[in-house]
Amino acid sequence: MDKRRLGMIKAHHIVIAAAILTAGAAAASHAAEAPKVVASIPPLHSLVSGVMAGVGTPALIVRGAGGAHHRALRPSEALALHRAEIVIWIGPALESFLAKPIKSLAGKATIVTMVETPGLELLAPRKAGLWAGDGAPPARRAEPGNADPHIWLDPWNARIMVGAIGAALAARDPANGARYGANVRALRRRLDTLSGTLRKFINPVRGVPYLVYHDGFQYFEKRFGLIARGAVARDPDRKPGPKRMLRLRATIEAGRIGCIFAEPGTPASLIHALRGETGVPSAVLDPLGVGLAPGPDQYFTLMRTNTRAFVRCLSAP
Ligand SMILES: [Zn+2]
Repeated sequence: MDKRRLGMIKAHHIVIAAAILTAGAAAASHAAEAPKVVASIPPLHSLVSGVMAGVGTPALIVRGAGGAHHRALRPSEALALHRAEIVIWIGPALESFLAKPIKSLAGKATIVTMVETPGLELLAPRKAGLWAGDGAPPARRAEPGNADPHIWLDPWNARIMVGAIGAALAARDPANGARYGANVRALRRRLDTLSGTLRKFINPVRGVPYLVYHDGFQYFEKRFGLIARGAVARDPDRKPGPKRMLRLRATIEAGRIGCIFAEPGTPASLIHALRGETGVPSAVLDPLGVGLAPGPDQYFTLMRTNTRAFVRCLSAP
């Protein structure tokens, strides 16, 4: 083989080697890039943010007031969904407005439906009257299809949820799998500490009955031993009718209600009408934490803020 030919081969090899190096670098940078993740409601977005810490930031669908149950999908939200590689939501019983758009994404994005996570403690929604009787209504276990969807308000369920979030992310993005795993472990330790702190705070007001605005806190109540007597509104988006108002007034006037809990957006006039002259205090609970800054801490702030509202109002003289 003459020198000239050898030189050509060498040059050729160098070109191939360079091409392989470039391709390798491109593949590596692609693998390190965070997947496009969309989470539905702020507390779920917070848990997803925690699992993705150091890798990327998920997008959030439900921002601002208005609740999660009945909404319309805004164009910007539709666009975020359309671009997503992973969509994480609670399930059709909560974000009913997402059910159709998510169905149309099937096959294109990974859909993670939290309420279907194995190992969750699921409860059936409470429907009977104002939950008549003096004790707490028996919590009935439920299946994903008919469960009360407010699952995140139990930190134990949140523990299970972060595991499922980590597994879904690692399956789509194995290059960052170790990172997701470490974040899940750190989040679980943080959730355990949170549970212990909340329990200590709540213990003194256990057993003081109260009314909630809508049946959104069952998981919290069951975990920490609180007793709700009923909900003001049967449907969170519809004010109670005159018949229900009379029943609520009778319950409050019978003197066994320690607090009436409103939610962001509950008209003050409604709470005022319920209290009448009884002097029963009221406070605001927020199952979503719509006023809190989104991010990894949102869930923890939300749980502490609601706990403070419970304890302050239920220990009022
Ligand atoms: Zn709700």
